[in-house]
Amino acid sequence: MSGCEDIESRRRFLKFAAGGAVGAMLIGGLPRIVRADDLPHVSDADPTAKALGYVEDATVSKDPKHKTGDTCANCQFYSGGPTGYGPCQLFLGKSVSAKGWCVSHTPKKA
Ligand code: SF4
Repeated sequence: MSGCEDIESRRRFLKFAAGGAVGAMLIGGLPRIVRADDLPHVSDADPTAKALGYVEDATVSKDPKHKTGDTCANCQFYSGGPTGYGPCQLFLGKSVSAKGWCVSHTPKKA
């Protein structure tokens, strides 16, 4: 390896290292991204939940509007996974149960 190549490779390394340090600082300085798992679960006792007839388990709903098979997991306002909990546009900052249901249930568009 000639002296010129040595200097060039060191220069590239320093550039790379400096970029990495900046990247690390940016990541460290960004606010933590809130994951759905971190959101507090909506409870049946929540005033909005009561108003919407929300239940954590759709199978126990006594609301006449509830149709068998309708759950948060197949509602267009739900953006979580098929199990567990996920965000609902009607309960900002909280998560609802994939097995839950409320009167605002609207089937997901195919
Ligand atoms: S709007 Fe849909 S996702 Fe939200 S609580 Fe009601 S049924 Fe569940």
